[in-house]
Amino acid sequence: MRTAMMDGTIFNSKLTKREFLKFCGAGFCAISLGNLFGFPETSRAQIVKKGLIKTKLSLYFSSVEAGEIQCELCPNRCRVPKGKRGLCRVRENRDGKYYSLVYGNPCAVHLDPIEKKPFFHVLPATGSFSIATVGCNFQCKFCQNWEISQASPEEVYNIDLPPESVVKKAKEMKAHSIAYTYVEPTIFYEYMWDTAQLARKAGLLNVCHSNGFINPDPLRNLCKVLDAANIDLKGFTETFYQELCTGLLAPVLKTLKILRQEKVHVEITNLMIPTKNDEMPVVKEMCLWIKKELGPETPIHFSRFYPLYKLRSLPPTPVSTLERARAVALSAGLEYVYIGNVPSHEGENTLCPKCKKLLIQRTGYMIGEIHLKAGKCGYCGKPIPGIWA
Ligand code: SF4
Repeated sequence: MRTAMMDGTIFNSKLTKREFLKFCGAGFCAISLGNLFGFPETSRAQIVKKGLIKTKLSLYFSSVEAGEIQCELCPNRCRVPKGKRGLCRVRENRDGKYYSLVYGNPCAVHLDPIEKKPFFHVLPATGSFSIATVGCNFQCKFCQNWEISQASPEEVYNIDLPPESVVKKAKEMKAHSIAYTYVEPTIFYEYMWDTAQLARKAGLLNVCHSNGFINPDPLRNLCKVLDAANIDLKGFTETFYQELCTGLLAPVLKTLKILRQEKVHVEITNLMIPTKNDEMPVVKEMCLWIKKELGPETPIHFSRFYPLYKLRSLPPTPVSTLERARAVALSAGLEYVYIGNVPSHEGENTLCPKCKKLLIQRTGYMIGEIHLKAGKCGYCGKPIPGIWA
């Protein structure tokens, strides 16, 4: 049920306008413990600690030789000697066994609008209880959250928040989903997996924003409890992935295909970086691949880059570049093409691909008119992909 407000904005009836505005405002701030919604001041000191709090045996590793282990979680397949850690900095070989060092210890906890993930086809105007630990399996030079993605657990303040507390807090805050986000959630897999199982039992959706750099076995297992994934398709050449992310493109494409096979709702984000991945022939190639392998109904978000971390010398993406990419994607046959990080741009709205009428109106993270009926266009009846109820 949704309620139309005086200003025409429509909110889910379980979330008051005041609550929605509160988390919309907070959503612009990426990471801070100051936004520990729902935690009384007196308890913050007890739950926020610097350094390691808990460990948990990793679910995916194998023993190799002389106490070395091989991590099987992501395509980096780190070989780790005793006492050392993998590339993501949050997994450690202790006497031939591999441990997650961030289980139940997020460093970021926020109630965000689901539109911020971004998901434009999942329960519009609802809150998503969002968590992240430190660490990442990529080292993107343009990372927006590098303060936590490129840190070790000892370098930040962490929160003692076991899976059952995540779900409890999410329910208290009237969130409709739990989002595993801000860094690559694969690196806190055990925490995500345990939380996601409890969340599903409690009637919450599980959604993630991921770089897609995960091995097929843990991914297929995760798909049992994952409802939606927004995958960063950061570029469409191996050179881009190797030079700017210390990653690989091919495993990301494989992840996208598996998510499709496992019937997880998928949206794609492409951060357009001036001179790095903004060549329109490559954009066209990427869009044609998405159409062929995932389907034309796959939503894609072309997102505006702002200079950060190691790419501060570049300018923000010109809006005209994003508009050109959107035109290329539409002419390639993709049906839901959005422009991100440009509040109030018409490219934020969802249009029906058949009758071209406005279905969901957005201004930043605020939702205006919605013209969907039971997941179909309210004008011509075309089914619109997504999770709508
Ligand atoms: S999850 Fe971490 S430790 Fe495991 S392979 Fe990936 S980067 Fe290496």
